[in-house]
Amino acid sequence: MKCTRCRSRAEVYLRQHNSGFCRRCFVVYFHRQVTRAIEHERMFTTEEDVLVAVSGGKDSLALWDTLHELGYRTTGLHLSLGIGAYSDHSTEKTKRFAETRDLPLITVPLAEEENGLAVPAVAAFTHRPACSACGVLKRHYFDRLALDRGFPVLATGHNLDDEAARLLGNVLRWQTDHLARQHPVLPPTHERFVRKVKPLFRVTEYETAVYAFFRGIDYVIEECPNSVGASQLLYKEVLNRLETTSPGTKLTFLQEFLNKGRPAFAEGEPVPPQPCESCGMPAYGHVCSYCKLVREVETKRERTRRHA
Ligand code: AMP
Ligand code: ZN
Repeated sequence: MKCTRCRSRAEVYLRQHNSGFCRRCFVVYFHRQVTRAIEHERMFTTEEDVLVAVSGGKDSLALWDTLHELGYRTTGLHLSLGIGAYSDHSTEKTKRFAETRDLPLITVPLAEEENGLAVPAVAAFTHRPACSACGVLKRHYFDRLALDRGFPVLATGHNLDDEAARLLGNVLRWQTDHLARQHPVLPPTHERFVRKVKPLFRVTEYETAVYAFFRGIDYVIEECPNSVGASQLLYKEVLNRLETTSPGTKLTFLQEFLNKGRPAFAEGEPVPPQPCESCGMPAYGHVCSYCKLVREVETKRERTRRHA
């Protein structure tokens, strides 16, 4: 098979675009998909400082590499979650990536933050699934650090598979409030929130893996030992089966939802968040989800201490 762009030997074939690419042209194709997402959805400009959330996995490192190559002003933000060797490896890979490209990186070890709360401790003390505790911690630190350091926008490495699976989950339960908010660009709904964007929403997980490989990016291959929610994995599997028989299903499902479906759910003004009584960050109750989690942990810790 020949490369669709330059007619040399193709190394990768993308059925959903009916195109084959050699290494060099695949990288061009990938950058174009990301540029299209950024420009079409007005995510950010080359004049803005973008905070990129990097886990050390293929998606977020591919994202950081792409944004840097395309000439955007980027700073990495890495949270060291305290999940044993997995977190140590993730932090190592992220640091090395930043060093070799001379890019600024902010690393936050959660265990050393004000209340010493890393993911395992939180999960153990609250009986919440580790992934749900982890999600609350990540969202809180992303919001707070972007705000404290003065970044107008935060980018994450969510890809097409992530977004299509999330859409399927929301549709299966008809979670209309979630459907109204599912978009690759979330404008701030409060002055203490920054814009949140997902520039990889048009490229598949397979494509980010190919990109990382072609670009020689060294990333953490092992999955988080807590593993992502089982249902999310099942939705991805189902979508991949549909994609096999009908290439392009994932992109059409998501893109047409954004074009036609979402406006039907997004009617009316969303209820604006109020400042959290405890930390001042925006919250949808008296206290934000993060402070609720911290209080839960503190109560349990206190109880354990008294019984010790
Ligand atoms: P996940 O929720 O693990 O699928 O990750 C989704 C996105 O969140 C990644 O592509 C990253 O942009 C970001 N992210 C996940 N874990 C971390 C972390 N430990 N530090 C910084 N960003 C992260
Ligand atoms: Zn709070």
